Amino acid sequence: MPGVSRPGGCGAPFTVVTAGVSPMSNFVFARPAEAAPVQAREPVAGVCPECGAEDLRRYPVLSEGGWFLVVKCQACLCSLSREPWRRLGHVELLSDAL
Ligand SMILES: [Zn+2]
Repeated sequence: MPGVSRPGGCGAPFTVVTAGVSPMSNFVFARPAEAAPVQAREPVAGVCPECGAEDLRRYPVLSEGGWFLVVKCQACLCSLSREPWRRLGHVELLSDAL
C-alpha cells in the first residue's frame, strides 16, 4: 500500500487514494468525470401544440414556487404539464415517506 509521511512530521502515514480503489472514509470521493451534473430527461410521446415538434421530455425543474415535475417541448420550451414535485427536489426525507 503506498503511503506518504504526513507533513509536519507526526510520523503517522496516511493512505494515498488511487483511482479504482474504494476509500474507507465517507469524506473522500472520486473526482467526477463530467464537467457538471446532468439531469436525465425522460422522453414523452406526443406533439408540441406550439411548434409541432415531437421531442417532449419530462424532468424536474426548480422555480420560484419550488420544485415541479414538468413536461416540456425541447425545441421551444413550451410547458405541456407542470405538477408540484418533492419539497426539497432530489433530497428525500424519511418524513416524506410517512
Ligand atoms: Zn414546441
